[in-house]
Amino acid sequence: MVEEHDHEYRTGIGTDIHRFIEGKKLMLGGVVIPFPQGLLGHSDGDVVLHAVIDALLGAAALGDIGTLFPDTDQQFAGSDSRILLVDVKDRLQELRWLIVNVDIIIHLENPRLEPFKAQIKRCIASLLEIDFNAVNVKAKTNEGLGEIGEGLAIAVTAAVLLKRKYKRTL
Ligand code: MG
Repeated sequence: MVEEHDHEYRTGIGTDIHRFIEGKKLMLGGVVIPFPQGLLGHSDGDVVLHAVIDALLGAAALGDIGTLFPDTDQQFAGSDSRILLVDVKDRLQELRWLIVNVDIIIHLENPRLEPFKAQIKRCIASLLEIDFNAVNVKAKTNEGLGEIGEGLAIAVTAAVLLKRKYKRTL
C-alpha cells in the first residue's frame, strides 16, 4: 500500500555541444553574454538551456529535445530556447512533476562566466518557477584540450532531480 504523502523521484541528465560562429550573439542559460562570437544552431544556439531541457525530458521519460522540437521544422528556426524550456516545464507540471534542483556544468575556454553565473541562475530559476538556490551553475575549462580547449565550441552537462506525489492507489 502506498501512502498518500510518499513521493517518487527521478533523475535526468542532458548534454549538448555547439560550435562558435561569427556574427551571432552568445546566449547562455537565457542570458546574452558579451563576446565576439555566438553559437551555431537551428535555434538561438543556447547550449545551456538545451542540456537542461534534455535533462528534464530524460527524468520524466519524455524523450529528447530533437524529437520534441525537430531542427528540420521551420517553426523552430531561430527560436528562443527560453520558450522551449517553458514549454517543457509546462509538460512536467501537467504530469505533476516538481523540479527539486538543476545542476549545470558549462565546459568552455572563453569567455569567463564568473560575472554572469548569478544572472544565468536567476534566469533559469525564473523560467522553471523554482528557487534561485535550486539552480547551480559551474564553469570549467578543458585545460586547452580538444575542440573545447581550442575555443571552437561550448559543451554543457546538466543533471536534474524531479519529484511528485504518488497517486493514491487504494
Ligand atoms: Mg543544441
